[in-house]
Amino acid sequence: MIGIFGGSFDPIHNGHLRAALEVLQRLELKKILFVPCQQHAFGKTFNATAAQRLEMLELAIQGEEEFVVDARELQRTGISYTIDTLIELNAENPNEIYSLILGMDTFLSLHKWHQEEEILNYANVIVVDRPALEATRMIDSTFADYVCTNVHEFMHSKAGKIFFLSAPLLEISATYIRNEVAANKSIRYLVPEAVADYIQTEKIYSS
Ligand code: ATP
Repeated sequence: MIGIFGGSFDPIHNGHLRAALEVLQRLELKKILFVPCQQHAFGKTFNATAAQRLEMLELAIQGEEEFVVDARELQRTGISYTIDTLIELNAENPNEIYSLILGMDTFLSLHKWHQEEEILNYANVIVVDRPALEATRMIDSTFADYVCTNVHEFMHSKAGKIFFLSAPLLEISATYIRNEVAANKSIRYLVPEAVADYIQTEKIYSS
C-alpha cells in the first residue's frame, strides 16, 4: 500500500511530517507520496510560489527514504482534482493499492469534493486524528458505509475503505507558521531546519 498525502504545503511543517510517519509505520505502507496541489478547488490562494512549495517539500523529506515528492499536480493546469491524480496513479500501477491520507479537518469536507464517491473506487482513505477525539463523530452519511475498523482487512483492501487512525498529532498549521514569519518570530522546531533556512533566505511569508 502506498499513501498519498496531498495538500497546499504552504509550507510543509512538522505536523504533516509526523502524521505521515505515524501512518507509514502503523499501517506498514511502502512509501508516502507528498502531492502539492496546483490550484485549490475551494479557491484558496498560496503565499509561496509552486516552485518554492516544491523546494520546501524536497528539503523537508531529505533523509526519509519512504517519503517521496510527486509533483504531477503542479504540472497540470487548472484546478487540482484528487480524482485525476488517483486515476493517473492507478493507470501507471494497476496492481498497487493507494490510500489517501487526510487530516480530520480535511476529511470533514470530503463530501464537498469533486466526484467524492468516485475517489473511493480508486483508493482507500486514511483519516489521521487525535486519540482524544471520537473518530467517527461527524461523518457525513455518504461515507458511513465505507468505514472499516479492522486494520488487517483495511491493509489488504484495494479501494473503498475508510480507516480512522488515532495518533498523537502536533498542533501546528501552515497558517500559524506564515503568521509567525510575518511577525518576525522564529519558526524553529515547527518545520525542519532546512525549511526554516530556506524560508528565511528566500524571504517567503515576511511582510
Ligand atoms: P493552512 O493552515 O494553510 O490551512 P495546513 O497546515 O492545514 O494549512 P495543508 O497543506 O492545507 O496544511 O494540509 C494538508 C493535509 O495535512 C490535510 O489533510 C490536513 O488535514 C493535514 N494536516 C494539516 N496540519 C496537520 C497537523 N498538524 N497534523 C496532522 N495533519 C495535518
